[in-house]
Amino acid sequence: MEYILQTDNLSKVYGTKTVLNHVSIHVPKGSIYGLVGKNGAGKTTLMRIICGLTQQSSGNYTLLGKSNDITVRNNMGMLIEKPGIYEHMTAMENLRYFSLLFGIPFHDHQKILKTVGLQNAGKKKARQFSLGMKQRLGIAISLLGNPDFLILDEPINGLDPEGVYEMRKMLESLNQQYGTTIMIASHILSELYKLATDYAIIDGCCLIDEFSKETLENACSSSVQVSVEEKWMQKAKDLIASRYPDVRCEVFGSHSLRLHEKIDLADLNQFLVENGVRVCGLGANDENIEKFFVEKLSGGQAV
Ligand code: ADP
Repeated sequence: MEYILQTDNLSKVYGTKTVLNHVSIHVPKGSIYGLVGKNGAGKTTLMRIICGLTQQSSGNYTLLGKSNDITVRNNMGMLIEKPGIYEHMTAMENLRYFSLLFGIPFHDHQKILKTVGLQNAGKKKARQFSLGMKQRLGIAISLLGNPDFLILDEPINGLDPEGVYEMRKMLESLNQQYGTTIMIASHILSELYKLATDYAIIDGCCLIDEFSKETLENACSSSVQVSVEEKWMQKAKDLIASRYPDVRCEVFGSHSLRLHEKIDLADLNQFLVENGVRVCGLGANDENIEKFFVEKLSGGQAV
């Protein structure tokens, strides 16, 4: 897999306080990578290091395939903490101003405003913008220069439900239409879950876990586990495949099968028994996403 960012044991110490402890993450190219963690976990510190706003105390990272090369940041956009916009300017004036400041010669500003849904902001000054509009203008500024990699720290913090929805749609479209890889930190699990394709959980300055959406869905999907004697495994598997052809069936060890769908336990039991397979155990597994994250955060071991 190709990674746009890989960190290797990144640590940050302020005085005697460790705020990031040997964090190694892998951000796949083209992903929307969610950094999940409570306030104070170390998410912003990690992003600040990647963006060159602070120096790591130890460890390394490779960004867009290069380590120790600050020029790669020309292909990056970032929005960390409050968007630094000029309140007395319109959205368009802000974009023109920052283009000049960053030395970006020409850009289709109208297209960027459209991308972030501010094409109709017109002559309105930024001070009259809602929080969501200000956040989107901040993202528009970070999009100057067509970055391949966008780093956003809590962009949905404080937004109302409509603002959250618009932000999500906008980020999805950036990712899908332009292939922009997005790393996004948030403590709002439900929103990250809808958006991200990959996740890292950070707690108490450590990486607790890193996994894909597929892994998360597998861990949390409703499933049914069947146990049979070893000699009946193949028969049970064939019978299940014939009766539930669209249901994914996984083999666990020599005795168990897991069906990734919430199917009727009594039906399954009767079907197997009537076809000569003795069922030793049958159970439903109903995990949910929130519980999954909370368990990771409360009981997680650093990796
Ligand atoms: P998060 O973004 O997950 O809320 P932060 O990275 O902002 O977490 O903070 C992680 C820890 O680092 C917090 O305990 C915070 O107080 C501490 N911290 C952040 N910046 C500094 C700093 N400049 N000096 C000392 N401690 C800091």
